[in-house]
Amino acid sequence: MTDSTESKNPDRSAAMARVWATRRERAANPVCCCGCGTALAVGKDPKRQKLFCHGHDGRLHSLLRKVLRGEASRQDIPLAARANLARIRFVQHDHQIQKAFTNPGQHATRRGPTVAE
Ligand SMILES: [Zn+2]
Repeated sequence: MTDSTESKNPDRSAAMARVWATRRERAANPVCCCGCGTALAVGKDPKRQKLFCHGHDGRLHSLLRKVLRGEASRQDIPLAARANLARIRFVQHDHQIQKAFTNPGQHATRRGPTVAE
C-alpha cells in the first residue's frame, strides 16, 4: 500500500466499508429469512421490521431442524437468516435451534483435551 497517510490499516477500512454497505443494502431491501428471496415491505420502525413472508418462519424452522438432524447442510441456511439471527424470535427462544447456526467443527475442537486454548 502506498497510502502512508492513512493511520488505520487501509485494507481493513475498505473491508469494513464493504461490510457496512452490504448491511445498509440489506436494511433497505429486506428479504424473507426463509431463503425464498421474496422482498419484504420496509417497516417504518426498524425494530418491527418483518423478517418473513406470512407463515415462512415455519419454513426456516423446519430447515433448521433438518440441519440439526443432519438432513440438510449448515450451508443451506439462508444468508438473510444468519444476518438476522439475533432478531428471529423462535431462534432466540430455542437453544437447540441455535445449534444449527454454530459451527460443528468448533465444537469438535473445544471438546478435545489436547486443545491449547
Ligand atoms: Zn420465505
